[in-house]
Amino acid sequence: MTKPLREDLGSIPLYVPGKALPDAVKLSSNEVPYGPLPGVADAVAEAAGQVHRYPDLAVVRLRDALAERLGVDAERITTGTGSVALIGHLMQSIADPGCDVVYSWRSFEAYPIAATVAGLSSVQVPNTPDHRHDIPAMAKSIGPDTRAVIVCSPNNPTGRTTTTAELDELFDAVDESVLVVVDEAYREFVTDPDSPDALERYGDRPNAVIFRTFSKAWGLAGLRVGYMIARPEVAATVRKCVIPFAVNNVAQAAASAALEAEDEMRRRVGLVVAERERMLEAVREIVPEVPDSQANFFWLPLGEDSVRFAAHCEERGILVRPFAGDGVRVTLGLPGDNEAILEGLRSFSRAKAS
Ligand SMILES: *Cc1c(COP(=O)(O)O)cnc(C)c1O
Repeated sequence: MTKPLREDLGSIPLYVPGKALPDAVKLSSNEVPYGPLPGVADAVAEAAGQVHRYPDLAVVRLRDALAERLGVDAERITTGTGSVALIGHLMQSIADPGCDVVYSWRSFEAYPIAATVAGLSSVQVPNTPDHRHDIPAMAKSIGPDTRAVIVCSPNNPTGRTTTTAELDELFDAVDESVLVVVDEAYREFVTDPDSPDALERYGDRPNAVIFRTFSKAWGLAGLRVGYMIARPEVAATVRKCVIPFAVNNVAQAAASAALEAEDEMRRRVGLVVAERERMLEAVREIVPEVPDSQANFFWLPLGEDSVRFAAHCEERGILVRPFAGDGVRVTLGLPGDNEAILEGLRSFSRAKAS
């Protein structure tokens, strides 16, 4: 890379847009398949009439609604254009020269990118053979220059959660000067009682930072709203890094309307969870090593077959998310689409066997 561009940014892969397949079934981005929640489209239409105005810089209405719902002060909540953006802003807030952030691998692809862009080094701790975070190893990887450790629970893309005992252990092991970040993008889909709600259990710890999003269970991926809960000083500092007016008024109106439709959100999550349990059982008859999932997707550890299986699905009009040489993440869709995945897996393994 030529000066004056930063050399370290050369290591970040360029985003390659997928082929335009307008009729394909998209099981590649962990969206819910039921459309926006009731009331959201009307709220968007109404807010559209005011788009000549600048948004509300402090996102007061949404932060107040979240504060009431979550039982925390609004000053502890920072909103951004998706939690992906906020993860980047948090990194910017902690990136002193020479510092690092610890997270598991394989985990969410945004972490290494956000760390590098902010100028932080990444310390990646391999997952356990059963695709879970190795919490003792993560705790041991925290050094004097570590500013944060990230726990993704459920983990994208493997679907596994971190247990209460493990998270307790991590919080107890780290100094309060190191942030313990818990990314709960898929919290609404968790049914395992041994997977803690990080806000409930650790919210009062000074170094706890919790990420949630409207993109998944709340059905608002296209409008880009996520939020972070932390102690007031951390929340305020990250807010300084957020691009001004990031969450626009249309997005704020939509997210506020979505919160009003919580019962319907829960009902839809119930449908996804039922499909998850049904699919895990059926998929294991074909690929026995598929791990449990507590999210709205599951992980197929297909190793070297991963890219080929994704191509096999694409030929059948279904998009899934391959990670070359490792596995394939499949989002749970409508029952018929999930059936098509099973059919694809069967024909793939038949073709392999012959
Ligand atoms: C989808 C996802 C997010 C949220 O992304 P948004 O930017 O809010 O759309 C955050 N973390 C993980 C692990 C995710 O999978």
